[in-house]
Amino acid sequence: MKQYKLLTPGPLTTTSSVKAKMQVDHCTWDDDYKSITRWIREQLLALAQCDANQYSSVLMQGSGTFGVESAVSSLINPDSKALVLHNGVYGKRIVTMLKYAKRDYVEYGEDYKNTFDLDKVREYLDQDDAITHVIVVHSETTTGMLNDVEAIGKLTHEYNKTFIVDAMSSFGGIPMAVQDWHIDCLISSANKCIQGVPGFSFIIAKRDLLEASKGQATTLSLDLYDQWQELEKDNKWRFTSPTHVVLAFAQAIQELHDEGGIEARYQRYKHNNQLMRQELAKCGIRAYIDESLQSPFITTFMFPDHVPFNFKDMYEYIKARGFVIYPGKLTDADTFRLGNIGEIYEEDVRNVTHHIASYIKELQDAK
Ligand SMILES: *Cc1c(COP(=O)(O)O)cnc(C)c1O
Repeated sequence: MKQYKLLTPGPLTTTSSVKAKMQVDHCTWDDDYKSITRWIREQLLALAQCDANQYSSVLMQGSGTFGVESAVSSLINPDSKALVLHNGVYGKRIVTMLKYAKRDYVEYGEDYKNTFDLDKVREYLDQDDAITHVIVVHSETTTGMLNDVEAIGKLTHEYNKTFIVDAMSSFGGIPMAVQDWHIDCLISSANKCIQGVPGFSFIIAKRDLLEASKGQATTLSLDLYDQWQELEKDNKWRFTSPTHVVLAFAQAIQELHDEGGIEARYQRYKHNNQLMRQELAKCGIRAYIDESLQSPFITTFMFPDHVPFNFKDMYEYIKARGFVIYPGKLTDADTFRLGNIGEIYEEDVRNVTHHIASYIKELQDAK
């Protein structure tokens, strides 16, 4: 089977050693397996720079969205009101979850090109005492925007609100002092910057929040409290867990350490992301958002207008050369996206940008 390198924001290209761990069949109640689950839970708290006496981690079956929905629908009760800050599709998805859960909320939506104005967040908090929770996406995968969760956390702490962060596409790829930044609950998943394979999400939350969520969930399978209780008892998952994925994830954490930890991985991502944008700018392809707002994980690019550009054509051209890229998700502009997380190195970035440049040149020559 032909192997492609994925320039997508997850699933992403994993190492062969991560994939190799999935050759073993494990049973779920065995002590060896439970000790792997325990190790992963401890590692996640350490990566998040959280004190294990104050925070705990919960692994949850399903993709990242399942983890966000588990947290949102379990932590926010009928007396709560959430302020959802959104500037992309993933932020809006959280609003949809609140609708399904029939929970009260107010939205502060920004244009997808902008990050949030802290003064406006303050206005929402000043004007509405009923707000109990603030929810935001850290790296908005729609555009590649990196929202400043440290600053928002400071503000929510000042107002004594609970702060929930969807750090799906950023956690593990950029240093995050979760506790110091006053993040009360953070959600991410196995197949993003920790570079595992898809199959589960995880929630890192304050113990007192988890305690308080007892009996609040709106669904059985996504009940965060029940899942946490079962894991706290003896590191056993409720219901069937994705055993192969868990083994692969433990290896992925080990490889994150081997790379030099989150800081070293961040430097690799940042370098490759900058190189990608710089090389594409040379052939007239510009990023959708301002450089100062750009995350090091994924970039949204505008279609070039000096050639008769066709995304599907370019996609096939690049795929034939071993790389898979990602369509855009914006309704107001024609865009495509390139992720640079996963086992992607400078050579890969040079290769893919070279292929894109050749494609553009062919279009120019044909004109
Ligand atoms: C990937 C991602 C999710 C979760 O998506 P799934 O397809 O459910 O894994 C949520 N939020 C953000 C910001 C993401 O990048």
